Amino acid sequence: MKQKRLVVLGGGESGVGAAILGKEKGMDVFLSDYGTIPERYRRQLDSEGIAWEEGGHTESLILDADEVVKSPGIPPTAPIMQRIAAKNIPVISEIELAGRYTDAKMVCITGSNGKTTTTLLTYHILKNAGLNVGLAGNVGKSLALQVAREHHDVYVIELSSFQLENMYDFKANIAVLMNITPDHLDRYDYKMQNYINAKFRIINNLTADDAFIFWQDDPVIQAQLRQLSTEAAMYPFAEHCEEGTRAYLDAEDELVINTPGHHLDMPRADLALNGLHNLYNSMAAGLSASLLDIKKDDIRQALSDFAGVEHRLEYVDTVDGVRYINDSKATNVNSCWYALESMPPEGVVLILGGKDKGNDYSEILPLVTAKVKAIVAMGKDNAKIIDYFTGKVPVIRDTHSLQEAIDACAGCATAGDTVLLSPCCASFDLFKSYEDRGEQFKNAVRSLKK
Ligand code: ADP
Repeated sequence: MKQKRLVVLGGGESGVGAAILGKEKGMDVFLSDYGTIPERYRRQLDSEGIAWEEGGHTESLILDADEVVKSPGIPPTAPIMQRIAAKNIPVISEIELAGRYTDAKMVCITGSNGKTTTTLLTYHILKNAGLNVGLAGNVGKSLALQVAREHHDVYVIELSSFQLENMYDFKANIAVLMNITPDHLDRYDYKMQNYINAKFRIINNLTADDAFIFWQDDPVIQAQLRQLSTEAAMYPFAEHCEEGTRAYLDAEDELVINTPGHHLDMPRADLALNGLHNLYNSMAAGLSASLLDIKKDDIRQALSDFAGVEHRLEYVDTVDGVRYINDSKATNVNSCWYALESMPPEGVVLILGGKDKGNDYSEILPLVTAKVKAIVAMGKDNAKIIDYFTGKVPVIRDTHSLQEAIDACAGCATAGDTVLLSPCCASFDLFKSYEDRGEQFKNAVRSLKK
């Protein structure tokens, strides 16, 4: 039989993992990256004996593929993807490939916001309860590499809409959908329904033995569920108990989680993560753990000792009585809404700006009007933010670097105020990534003290 030719596009964590798994399964593997491949991945490919190229795509080596694994970052509109489509070569994601070679239980988490926090929190609960669990998807090591080399019984996987787009036969055992609000619309022809459809692929192939956990009050999810059906058992969570709610807050402010054969309650005050959004994240993680039969004491313990995630409402320091919070990961308007929701009632200096993904700021306007005393716009081009908020907040500053922004914040804020970096935008105009933006912010705050 002819050896199957697998071409992997993109030499990052997922691509390299897919290549290694493909090789291990006896395929003829070639990896191609249009940009540069990080040194450690090049070395890994060499030591595995996998052919690769960077700095361009050699079509003759790619268009003879039986199947292509595409990194989530490559848009389907890229010229090479169009050539591949024209030749009808099937394109899958790394998760789809890995799913073919494991019987492990899959807890898959998606949504516009809260994916990483919920994924890490769920992993923390399962790991501390002693499960042989792997962490994969957008966080941690690629699923493909773990399937090839580590063999866990359960995986907790963070899935972006981009990964879901190229998943077909993959099946979750527990599918979690946190929420759907506009994000990445630039990649979906500015059509919200396209983005919603991608997110809802998380429930594809669920059977009656599987579970679907979702935020019950999300109008977008509700509307979509009226048109779709799934055999899976439904586990909605909501702030207050409604019809069918499986996780909620009761009248005593206790978090309640109900799954077949399990009932758990614990004071909301004992949760490690604060804010309404994190209550939802705790509910989703707690429901997943409960469905996996984790003991309630283990769930309570892990929900109360989770250390939090960097760049998500991360307290940095207090300088001259002003608290500085790094929420650099808030790259869309909805995540900023939750950040503002968890802030004190007044005295917030908000840093906004970066690469706009089609933002509509009206969603945060009521919270901004109530709580924000100054907006510091930080980006290459701040015109949209300045136009929108002029006349709506007392002070607006136009800045074009992190240092300028920090100086402006320190100038606007007085003791008792909070400076919040929750920019609603991607970071790529001034920074390498949201992590880079958050690191630079933290360093600049700390140097205010010197
Ligand atoms: P994601 O991985 O989906 O981007 P993160 O867990 O990294 O989500 O959180 C990103 C930002 O979104 C955080 O900075 C926080 O302000 C906000 N956020 C976190 N959880 C939620 C949630 N459940 N709903 C809305 N916003 C959230």
